[in-house]
Amino acid sequence: MNIILLGPPGAGKGTQAHHLVATRDMIQLSTGDMLREAKDSGTEMGKRVAEVMARGELVTDEIVIGLIREKLECGKGGGFIFDGFPRTLPQADALGQLLSECGETLDAVIEMQVDDEALVDRITARSTCSNCGEVYNDNTKPIPADGVCTKCGEAHEFTRRADDNEEALRNRLMEYYKKTSPLVGYYYAKDMLSRINGLGSVKDVQGSIAAILDR
Ligand code: AMP
Repeated sequence: MNIILLGPPGAGKGTQAHHLVATRDMIQLSTGDMLREAKDSGTEMGKRVAEVMARGELVTDEIVIGLIREKLECGKGGGFIFDGFPRTLPQADALGQLLSECGETLDAVIEMQVDDEALVDRITARSTCSNCGEVYNDNTKPIPADGVCTKCGEAHEFTRRADDNEEALRNRLMEYYKKTSPLVGYYYAKDMLSRINGLGSVKDVQGSIAAILDR
């Protein structure tokens, strides 16, 4: 089963994708993670995209489609979770094409709806374990006092993303509304769209997603 988690920055796509990987043998394909990896490893492409990402703008379709093409191994695992991809209509068309070349289909597109106020609050309070990527929130899930990550059990640094500041977030939201939100209509017209309330607890949202995958 191949699905897209669609939603603005801070909607909880990554958190939900991690849960699906752990419980359903699915494979998460996050273009944001791939781009951050390229940036941290200092590749030419990483250097080129670093400033674009820090400003909160979208990287070119050509680059992200290339990344997905590289990582998409046909017929693997319990299916793919596309997290943060596609973000534009050309990316959505390219994904359809890549999946059909694999003999695969897209089975569900889950739009996680969260209001803008909540997004700003979530993102400016967010930090991540640099070892395993577990996400913490200053208000709802603070970093443990002993500095040991509850997921990987290791004491590593907890970092804030360079683009998790208010200015970059405003740009990321604008990019979402201008370029990504048309995908809601695109997948609705293809009869693939399911909408869920992304504002509930992590468990509630897990339940809403499971109800869609198991129906
Ligand atoms: P994310 O981790 O999904 O929030 O992505 C972080 C940043 O990476 C975004 O703000 C963009 O600059 C870039 N990015 C990630 N995925 C894409 C994509 N599908 N298309 C264009 N840019 C992307």
